[in-house]
Amino acid sequence: MNVWFDGSIKDVDDLGLSCLSHTLHYGTGVFEGIRSYEVENKAVIFRLQDHIDRLLQSAEILGMSVNQEHDEISHAIHEVVRTNSLTNAYIRPLLYYGRGGMGLDVNGVKPNPVHLMVAAWEWESYFSDSGQAGVNAFVSDWKRVFANPSMVQAKAVGHYLNSHMAYSDAIKNGYEEAILIDEDGYIAEGSASNLFVVKDKKVMTPKTTNALKGITRNTAFSLLRDMGYTVDECDMNVEVLLDIDEAFFTGTACEISRIGSINGKKLPGSDSASLTTKLAESYLKLVRMEYKFNDYFPQNLGEWFSVVQAVQLDKNNYVA
Ligand code: PMP
Repeated sequence: MNVWFDGSIKDVDDLGLSCLSHTLHYGTGVFEGIRSYEVENKAVIFRLQDHIDRLLQSAEILGMSVNQEHDEISHAIHEVVRTNSLTNAYIRPLLYYGRGGMGLDVNGVKPNPVHLMVAAWEWESYFSDSGQAGVNAFVSDWKRVFANPSMVQAKAVGHYLNSHMAYSDAIKNGYEEAILIDEDGYIAEGSASNLFVVKDKKVMTPKTTNALKGITRNTAFSLLRDMGYTVDECDMNVEVLLDIDEAFFTGTACEISRIGSINGKKLPGSDSASLTTKLAESYLKLVRMEYKFNDYFPQNLGEWFSVVQAVQLDKNNYVA
């Protein structure tokens, strides 16, 4: 696999990364999850600008000094998709601290350098069945806990210990995904996704006080608005989940994934005419540039699609 590392494409097996990386020991990095989709034999990256903006914002929240500008990160991502000849790809940029001093201070006597790594691979479906049957979700005992309010919006490596514990607990208990509650008892989000519920044709989602401002969440807002729905961003008690028609997760990896049951209780609204089905279909059309907005045009729609130029091979079949 080709990855981008600090300014050029390298073979992942040639990197020899240090086991004394600060991020490995203390969880101090930030990352993104991005998808590209095949459109007319080319890879088209969905909402790349927004993902890079969030990557840089996450780094800023953690106080990381990033050496790359927005454009260079964009170039790196394009190169990784291009040189791996991928079309439907999951792309993972990571900004992390390398080897330096082993104390917590990254700017100490031996400063820890900030590295940019970008990898990409094919990652088909996030859940085994997010279609008709839907995901069996579980309200976790693990709370969505962040160090302080601004940290909620950082997609920081360390946060995913919380997600990992909740997710593993769900799997151990025979479920496929966890729903996390915040310290005030309100529903926060999934382990790596945002959550929406539908009741009597009304759509609700938790505020982002204790949930990541998901880019797919934002895309779902636009699609729902175009489909004639408004979304109520509100504080939701867990009890809400006992009496809903439909629910779904949104996320770059899981796209729009229907929730089939919560804590073993089946949700009634899972027929093909359901809002979740329509939204999921519209989302998959949109990312493949086939969806036409009718009533509502997102402001920055023109920036949502980045086309990757196909890889050119030289006469020895090497990437030119
Ligand atoms: N919440 C968390 C904790 C996540 O990790 C993700 C995935 N990035 C999301 C929500 C959904 O965000 P997005 O739609 O931007 O992928």
